[in-house]
Amino acid sequence: MDAWRYIVRAEQKNRSVETYLPLILSAAGALGVLPFAINRFMQQEWTAAIIDTVIITGFIALGTYVYRTRRVRVASVAIALLCMGGVVSSVYVNGAVQIYWIFPALVAVFYLIQPHEAALGALVTVAALLPAVLPASETQETATVLITIIVTSAFAFAFSLITSRQREQLLVLATKDPLTGAGNRRALDAKLSEVVNAHRRSGTAATLVLIDLDHFKKVNDVHGHAVGDQILKRVTTIIDLRIRVTDSLYRIGGEEFVVVLEGADLSRAVHLAEQLRTLVYANELVPDHAVTISLGVAELKKGENGNDWLHRADEALYRAKDAGRNSTSISD
Ligand code: GH3
Ligand code: MG
Ligand code: MG
Repeated sequence: MDAWRYIVRAEQKNRSVETYLPLILSAAGALGVLPFAINRFMQQEWTAAIIDTVIITGFIALGTYVYRTRRVRVASVAIALLCMGGVVSSVYVNGAVQIYWIFPALVAVFYLIQPHEAALGALVTVAALLPAVLPASETQETATVLITIIVTSAFAFAFSLITSRQREQLLVLATKDPLTGAGNRRALDAKLSEVVNAHRRSGTAATLVLIDLDHFKKVNDVHGHAVGDQILKRVTTIIDLRIRVTDSLYRIGGEEFVVVLEGADLSRAVHLAEQLRTLVYANELVPDHAVTISLGVAELKKGENGNDWLHRADEALYRAKDAGRNSTSISD
């Protein structure tokens, strides 16, 4: 019942940690190539100088893009392509000795993009380099280069795979309620600010359904905490099966849930609320004891923030409780 008290966090002002890697790699790339570019200009090796300048400019442009927009995915793919393209063009223009750039390029590529994309990129790059490298070096030297490339790629691939799995696990831990698998408070906060922003931009309708189990303390006291937990899971399943893909479910507080209905007006939300109330009541979640829910429904209003919106849904829920529970109340 005290959902409104949670503060809906303002959009994160801090730069996302995801942007660090592309920023560092593009800065390192630009600074690494800079001395060579200067040297090429001084030696008047114009083709090589232009290629180095293009690479440096590319790194600076992509780094600036990430810094300004915080958009990481497209820039990461572009930086990866620049790294690989840079190595290939440098080897063809300046000679096989430039092959050593493949090592930092490979590491960057595996850090920047998905492991399988990076493996494909590495394969294509090495295949593109072979015609330039094979005739230029001794067999033993070529073998050493190729084997060290394979070993570096294998390590980088394994590292990248493990990191991306860990990232997925962290995301689940950070956003899901462990008991029911519904979204948690943090996920709700993020969704509310996303929906409120969409409403401000384009007036998209959105409605909240706040759900609280009735007399749940008594249910726990009579049947035990383990049964209480089972009921929470089953209520989650009932809601999950009923809501649409554009709706999302969160568990906030012990026996309190929120459904965020995106693109839905009050009437659809009230219809859903009544369906859920009837279903929970009809499901006989514990023998000889009707488990019921009370619901508060509120449609997002112009100029309102997530906190105000949730507060109105909570007030409606209070009214539903006051009206005798097992009922739905609407915020006007
Ligand atoms: P009301 O109808 O006014 O909502 O009454 P209520 O008893 O449901 O509300 P109250 O806020 O007094 O108590 C909520 C109870 O929910 C207290 C606690 O025992 C139970 N609860 C909270 N979290 C969990 C949980 O994770 N598992 C179980 N089994 N019970 C929980
Ligand atoms: Mg409660
Ligand atoms: Mg309750």
